[in-house]
Amino acid sequence: MLYRLHKSGFQAFLVGGGVRDALLGLHPKDFDIATDAHPEEVRALFGNCRLIGRRFRLAHIRFGREIIEVATFRAATEGTENNGDVEHDHKGRILRDNVYGTIDEDVWRRDFTCNALYYNIADFSIWDYVGGVDDVKRRRLVLIGDPDRRLREDPVRMLRAVRFAAKLDFKIDLAVQKSIRKNRELLSNVPPARLFDEFLKMFQAGFAETTFELLREFDLFRMLFPETDRALNDDDAFLRFTRTALANTDQRVAAEKSVTPMFLLGVFFWAPVKRSAEELRSREKMSVAQSLSLAAYELSGRQQSRVSIPRRFTTPMREILAMQPRFDVRRGKRAMNLLEHRRFRAAYDLMMLRSSCEDFDPELAAFWTDVQNQNAEERCKSFDLQQAPRGTSRRKARGHRRRRTKQQ
Ligand code: ATP
Ligand code: MG
Repeated sequence: MLYRLHKSGFQAFLVGGGVRDALLGLHPKDFDIATDAHPEEVRALFGNCRLIGRRFRLAHIRFGREIIEVATFRAATEGTENNGDVEHDHKGRILRDNVYGTIDEDVWRRDFTCNALYYNIADFSIWDYVGGVDDVKRRRLVLIGDPDRRLREDPVRMLRAVRFAAKLDFKIDLAVQKSIRKNRELLSNVPPARLFDEFLKMFQAGFAETTFELLREFDLFRMLFPETDRALNDDDAFLRFTRTALANTDQRVAAEKSVTPMFLLGVFFWAPVKRSAEELRSREKMSVAQSLSLAAYELSGRQQSRVSIPRRFTTPMREILAMQPRFDVRRGKRAMNLLEHRRFRAAYDLMMLRSSCEDFDPELAAFWTDVQNQNAEERCKSFDLQQAPRGTSRRKARGHRRRRTKQQ
């Protein structure tokens, strides 16, 4: 793609994480291209191209299974907080900046120096306007320009700082650290849908545990999940539980297994939901499962004003929380039917996590692990059932009864 742009007479650079990660010997997650071609010109060059974005107009080009983002150079916003071309809200957050520019203008609107390196396909050189190569070598995360202003323009950069520091094992520049501590409240000004996107990047990229520690260190986690944060402060066991879950998530990512935000949200919600559920039960008569489900529903609602979690995640999350009391029961048909529940796996994983943090009886946890490997007959025995439930073979069920009679 770089070559095609270049051959058509445009400038074409690889930029951002692709250059940074390659310099660090890491495998880049995705590739971003910067060019002086306008989005319409990019579209004319590539068949499989879509123009997207409101705040930034970008070309997305499908390349095999990947989507490569092609951005036209944009004019700098340096010193232009009140510039008429760039739209800000009353707190200085950029709402729209679609003013095209040149590469030496474009560089100033990038966030960190390590993200502002341009690899030129014309001669394979790296263009470094901001000392980014040096900062990569020294493993420093430095904001371009005045940190306060850059964080005001886009408070999500605070989360990006933490995410990159965790992923790259970089130290956040002291001036940036100071500015984060000063400006973190501005995150409440960011659209919750964008924070959900950022939440996914922070917690599903394989560095969730370190990211979490840094978010807590800078008191940013509170800005995203206030009630979870409060529960973490009051309850060491919940802190251990959360850390274990994050470490497990990172291991799964490293092993290229699938991860779902639903599970991690269930973890974040567990302690605050358990607490509100108890309160609900002290006021009204309802089952533990009902109270957990209702408490999770209410917390999801309150959470939407910070990080808006799509319903396709909150619905199953509520289910796996409300299923937890069912693991306390190990006798009878209803207990055995839990194994067939479509959320059994996730609910079981949550229960196992609880048992590793003294929140559930390990012996009972082992029972639930064992029964999964048993055949129908063995299961009936485990759940103290005289008869195999409907759906299992009659012959097996009879055989089971006969044997028991013989033994007696
Ligand atoms: P990764 O893809 O590994 O998460 P990245 O650095 O490529 O890291 P992207 O979100 O893909 O990050 O963005 C690509 C580039 O666009 C960044 O390197 C940076 O130069 C610029 N950029 C992205 N988001 C912002 C932002 N909020 N403020 C300023 N520049 C940004
Ligand atoms: Mg990228």
